[in-house]
Amino acid sequence: MIECVDCGLSQVQPVLTVGQSAFCRRCDARLARYYTPGHQTSTALALAALALLLVANVKPFLHFAFHGRQSTAYLWSGIEMLWETSYPPLALLVGGTVILVPLVLVGGVVFVSGSLGLGYGPAYLGGLYRWLRKLRSWAMLEVFLLGVLVAVVKLGELASIGLGIGFYAFVASSLLMLGAWETLDPQAVWARVDASLDPPRPAKGTTPATFLACPVCDLRSSVHIEKAEDFACPRCGEPLHTRKPYSVQRALSLLLAATILYIPANMLPVMRVELLGRSETDTILQGVQALIAGGLWEIAALVFFASFLVPGLKILGLLYLAWTIRRPDSDKLILHTRLYRIIDQIGRWSMIDVFMTAVLVGLVQLGAIATIVPEAGAVCFAGVVILTIFAARAFDPRVLWDAVEEHDV
Ligand SMILES: [Zn+2]
Ligand SMILES: [Zn+2]
Repeated sequence: MIECVDCGLSQVQPVLTVGQSAFCRRCDARLARYYTPGHQTSTALALAALALLLVANVKPFLHFAFHGRQSTAYLWSGIEMLWETSYPPLALLVGGTVILVPLVLVGGVVFVSGSLGLGYGPAYLGGLYRWLRKLRSWAMLEVFLLGVLVAVVKLGELASIGLGIGFYAFVASSLLMLGAWETLDPQAVWARVDASLDPPRPAKGTTPATFLACPVCDLRSSVHIEKAEDFACPRCGEPLHTRKPYSVQRALSLLLAATILYIPANMLPVMRVELLGRSETDTILQGVQALIAGGLWEIAALVFFASFLVPGLKILGLLYLAWTIRRPDSDKLILHTRLYRIIDQIGRWSMIDVFMTAVLVGLVQLGAIATIVPEAGAVCFAGVVILTIFAARAFDPRVLWDAVEEHDV
């Protein structure tokens, strides 16, 4: 038996063969996927990704030449500049999502898939793998690459930009990491963890028991009802609840904070460009206008969509979902659950503008000739992105299905 994390329906998981996936029969969420057996592939890909990620961190990333002057930026140059120009939270956010989390994640995959190969199953393997799964969406290599692309196109208008060895290593590493993650079979990891655990004992006796399903590893545990509020998954250690606690209240308060920050994020400049003695500040929308003026329609559309539309639509979408709990409509449930899935998955792509700012700030440091410095708008904008990501995580889509069930009774 397996419980759908999006709608809460318990169902029998079918046996899968090559290329097949199992989807929830009520809301269409993907429940499980068939993995080709072979943790060797995953270990090899993860080791290669780790090596290239280290190269990407020590070799030159981008070169910048303007009016006879040259500068070279490393992956960490922008992070260092953000730290020095008194924006430590931004430096931590970029450093965390582009350097630290990817290193931890890829190192973790090497360890977990290596453990499978060696038949090694320490007690913390389940907990470790659970944290890796949670960290997955915070490793934003591919989003960072889009940020680099926007920065390079933007600067390419007025200066010459060269790609360094670090850049190529970074591209290769992000592809290998994707491969390593996609070939690591969660079922095989959980089976390895189970082999080193005592077999689960079902709740016995006269006290009524209930089933709690783990959203991380899909294990269903039978729990006494009195103990159900304070129970952790025996396999991976995830605290279990029938529903995420105070999900609507928490999502709404995070959304309120995000809505308030959304205003300065779009009113304040995100960076200041000092070029040959002229100084000019850019808000997000002014940046888009500049791209359109330069004839870069595609990039302008990308930035407008990811930085302006997505955060706003996420806020509106989640508010709408919270509102539908009061007015349950069973015909639109599947649509609403899909909307939630899109909102949850699209959030990290809004980081493009933050990453672009970090790249520009690290690269363009030629003193009086050309300098780019971050401004307060970038911090507010990063705040909006992070708050909406957390709001989407806090919201429990199963509450939508509960509301309809209660309404129909
Ligand atoms: Zn479902
Ligand atoms: Zn679990």
